[in-house]
Amino acid sequence: MDPLSLVVGAVLLTAGYVSGRLGGWRAARARARTPQMPLPMCTCGHPLSQHDPKEHTCHAEVPRDAFNWAGHRSGQTWVACRCRQYIGPRPIDEVFAPRLLPPE
Ligand SMILES: [Zn+2]
Ligand SMILES: [Zn+2]
Repeated sequence: MDPLSLVVGAVLLTAGYVSGRLGGWRAARARARTPQMPLPMCTCGHPLSQHDPKEHTCHAEVPRDAFNWAGHRSGQTWVACRCRQYIGPRPIDEVFAPRLLPPE
């Protein structure tokens, strides 16, 4: 193999790598720019949709430290959230103003 084709190969490899990285950055920046409605949250950290106003429960689950018989921490278990009522901000704006859709 002559040294010239080696150099050309290396340049092509580098170009492909750089353009791939740039594409990744561009995608990440586009994702960061996408407008996202902040979800109204309850003080328990779960959105209104997880709460059942009739049964006064929160359907979300929260991680809790699990302990074995010796009292050592042995990972986590998921238990139902103990929140009884949604007390975060109500999304009233959405009722009166239609959601802004991203231009596409
Ligand atoms: Zn809650
Ligand atoms: Zn909750």
